[in-house]
Amino acid sequence: ATEVRLAARPHGVPTQDNFDIVDTEVPAPGPGQLLVRNVVMSVDPAMRGRMNDVKSYAPPFVVGEAMYGGAVGEVLESTVDGFAAGDHVLHQRGWRTHAVVDAKQAAKVDGSVAPLSTYLGVLGMPGLTAYAGLLVSAEFKPGDTVFVSGAAGAVGSLVGQLARLKGAKRVLGSAGSAEKVRHLTEDLGFDAAFNYKDGPVAEQLAAAAAEGIEVYFDNVGGEHLEAAIASMNLHGRITVCGMISQYNATEPNPAPRNLAQLIAKRITMRGMLVLDHFGLREQFVSEVAPLVASGEIKYSETFVDGIRNAPEAFLGLLRGTNTGKMLVRL
Ligand code: NDP
Repeated sequence: ATEVRLAARPHGVPTQDNFDIVDTEVPAPGPGQLLVRNVVMSVDPAMRGRMNDVKSYAPPFVVGEAMYGGAVGEVLESTVDGFAAGDHVLHQRGWRTHAVVDAKQAAKVDGSVAPLSTYLGVLGMPGLTAYAGLLVSAEFKPGDTVFVSGAAGAVGSLVGQLARLKGAKRVLGSAGSAEKVRHLTEDLGFDAAFNYKDGPVAEQLAAAAAEGIEVYFDNVGGEHLEAAIASMNLHGRITVCGMISQYNATEPNPAPRNLAQLIAKRITMRGMLVLDHFGLREQFVSEVAPLVASGEIKYSETFVDGIRNAPEAFLGLLRGTNTGKMLVRL
């Protein structure tokens, strides 16, 4: 067995030196536990926060210990009713090839209903984040013009497509390359998109949204958030989902500098955590899974192969080497 441990806490942008890849004995399951061979694991932006030693909604990773996160694996050994060898389970003991999982923390998933990887992406936590963040937190209504940043990523790509399917007036997105911008408008049906690296976000957004926006789904923070406030119409709503532009920052970010506009525009800005919305999961899957199966919702996955390349997959995610969900195939 092999696992990835946190070797040292990063200052700024993490590097390979922050990770240790260690060969270990295959662990033995105790009562109520399963031995699982992981098939695919997730790397997520939130893991950057857990590399820091700060109190947050999730406890930090421990230096010298294996990291963890979403994964799907095959049960190798089970003494627990309801789980048998050969079953596939979704659980939170990623970053290792073999995991001992409390059966209570494992959910059976079926690879014949949808590819196993989608339980970590479009039909999993990022998908639910998009669904709840748009429909609940932003109180999306048909006729709204929606802007989403990080639009070519796992969460953002679903936000834009859901908004379009649910009757948005216009759907606008930003991403970090010309190819991603093409993908948004040509493959995913965005009405307009721009590369935030091409020039000031406020100027590019204002040009794309001549009549302003009602909803901003924020995955990025900073300059993007300031630009969205500037382009926002009366009674606009902002879902604060992520601020990836700041996760590696070593100094506080100066933007947004225009928060006073919230007053005259009566803007609502709402932080959201997917953990609060697990109750919507069934509704989300029953609504979105058929749209994925029919191709009305498209999803991309970027795969990196092998546990030894998991740190590089994570570092790549922070640099934007992924389109759609970033995953490690084990
Ligand atoms: P993505 O698939 O969107 O991957 C991250 C993307 O962020 C990269 O592909 C990159 O794309 C972009 N990025 C990196 N650095 C910057 C930067 N400085 N400025 C702008 N974009 C940047 O990840 P997820 O879909 O998993 O997550 C998206 C956001 O949602 C994150 O902020 C994450 O923390 C948040 N999130 C929040 C949850 C919650 O409960 N609140 C739950 C899940 C996710 P590009 O090439 O376009 O730069």
